[in-house]
Amino acid sequence: MCGIAGVYNSEIAPKLVYLEIYSLQHRGQESAGIASSDGEDIQLVKGSGKVLEGISSEDLEKLRGKNAIGHVRYSTAGDAGGANAQPIVRSIPMGQVAVVHNGNLTNYLPLRRELEEKGYRFNYTSDTELFLVLLETGKEYLPKGLEIHPEDSEFLPRLLYALSEVEGAYSVLMLYRDKLIAFRDKLGFRPLLMGKKGKSYFFASESCAFDIVEAEMVKEVKPGEIVVVDSKGIRNYFPFREKEEARCIFEFVYFSRPDSFIFGNWVYEVRQELGRQLAREEVVEADLVSPVPDSGVVPALGYSQESGLPFELGLIRNHYVGRSFIEPSQELRNIRVLMKLSPNRAVLRGKRVIIVDDSLVRGTTSKRIVQMLKRAGAKEVHLRIASPPVVGPCYYGIDTPTKEELIANRMSLEEIRKHIGADSLRYLSLEGLRSVVEDKRLYCDACFSNEYPITPRI
Ligand code: AMP
Repeated sequence: MCGIAGVYNSEIAPKLVYLEIYSLQHRGQESAGIASSDGEDIQLVKGSGKVLEGISSEDLEKLRGKNAIGHVRYSTAGDAGGANAQPIVRSIPMGQVAVVHNGNLTNYLPLRRELEEKGYRFNYTSDTELFLVLLETGKEYLPKGLEIHPEDSEFLPRLLYALSEVEGAYSVLMLYRDKLIAFRDKLGFRPLLMGKKGKSYFFASESCAFDIVEAEMVKEVKPGEIVVVDSKGIRNYFPFREKEEARCIFEFVYFSRPDSFIFGNWVYEVRQELGRQLAREEVVEADLVSPVPDSGVVPALGYSQESGLPFELGLIRNHYVGRSFIEPSQELRNIRVLMKLSPNRAVLRGKRVIIVDDSLVRGTTSKRIVQMLKRAGAKEVHLRIASPPVVGPCYYGIDTPTKEELIANRMSLEEIRKHIGADSLRYLSLEGLRSVVEDKRLYCDACFSNEYPITPRI
C-alpha cells in the first residue's frame, strides 16, 4: 500500500503535493518523497519516515517547478525503509522521468531477470523501477485503432510498450518534460482520482487529498485509462480495453480514509453498511457497542444503528502513535498496541461489551484488546469483525502476511476465540461483504475468498 499525489501547473506545486501526501499518510509511513519539474529538469527530495520526518521544510523550499508528484510508502515489494523511497527518477535516452506507484507488479521478478540479462541495470529492489527500465528500452507498442495526439507521439508508444509488459496492480503518476501522466492498470485494483482548482490539476489516491488543498474532485481515472496533462490540454487514452474490474475491497474495509471517495463510493457509507450488515447477520445480548479506534469506529456505528444498542467509547486512542500494524517487525507491533489504546473504565465497568473492529489478520491486536477490556472490568467481551476471515495474501499491493501467519488459516473459529480470550467471536460473512458493494464482480476480494484475478509469476 502506498499513497500517491500530483499537481500540474501551480507556482507552489511541491508544497501542494506535500499537503496531499500529508493527508494520505495513513497509506504509508515508511518513507515519503516529492519530485518536481520545471519542464526541463526534475528535482527530488525523499527520506524515511512520515512526511514530516522524510521531507524537511528546507528541502521542500528548494524544489522548483510548476508540476510535482509525491509518494508515501508502505513496502509490499522490495526492502522496507528509505532505500526504496519514491519518487524514483531515471535519466534515459528520451530524457528524465520520475514515477510514483501504488500497487504491486505480479511479474516483476521474471521481467527484471529478463531485462538484466539484456544488460539493463536496476538501482532499486522495488517493482516500480520496471516502468522506467521498460521505457529505457525504447521499444514501442501501438494498439490497432488507437489515435495518438502529436504531442504524445514520442512518449506514449513507449509507455504503451511498458504497460503491455507489466502485469498486476498499478496506479501511477509520472513526470516527463512538461507533462504529468496518470494511469491505472486495466483491472483498476487501486484507486486514483483527478481534481481541479483554478488552472491547476490535482491527482491523488483518495479524494481526502483534494480537501486539504481545497481542490474539487473532477473524476476517477478509469481502469486502463491514461491521462496526459500538459500545456496543450488534457488527453485521455484507453489502449487496453477490459470488461472486468478488480477494485480492492480492502480499501473499503480498512485502508482508505472514511472521508474519502473512491471506486464510485463514499468510504464512510460502505464501511457503515459493513457494520449494519454484521448486525443484520447476528446480534448478541449486550449493554453497549464500542469500536476499536480508529478503524472500527464507522462499522461500530453501523452496528449500533442497526442493532439499537448504544454506541460508547470503551477504548481511547492516543493520537500521537501511528498505525500499529504498519510497522514491519512483530516486536514493534506488540508494543505499539499498548501505546495506542487505553481502556475507558467509566464505560466498561460491569458491562457486556460488543467490541467491533474492521478486520482480524494475525490476531495480535485483538488478543491484547480483549485482555485490556477485561482487566478494566468488562463483564463480557464479544468481538465482532466487520469483514470475513483474512485467508489469502494480497499480490496487488497490500502487505497481508503469508498464509501461515494469517490466524484464520491456523485455527478454527472456536480456537481463535479461545486464543483471543473473547466470550464470543463472529465475522461478517463473505456473502454479507459482497452484498454491501453494488456489484461483487467489480471487486477483488481474494484476501477473503482466495479467488485471485491474476496469478503472480515468480
Ligand atoms: P492483527 O489482527 O493484530 O494482525 O491486526 C489487525 C488490525 O490491523 C486490523 O484491525 C486493522 O485495523 C489493521 N490492519 C489490517 N490489515 C492491515 C494491513 N494490511 N496493513 C496494516 N494494517 C492492517
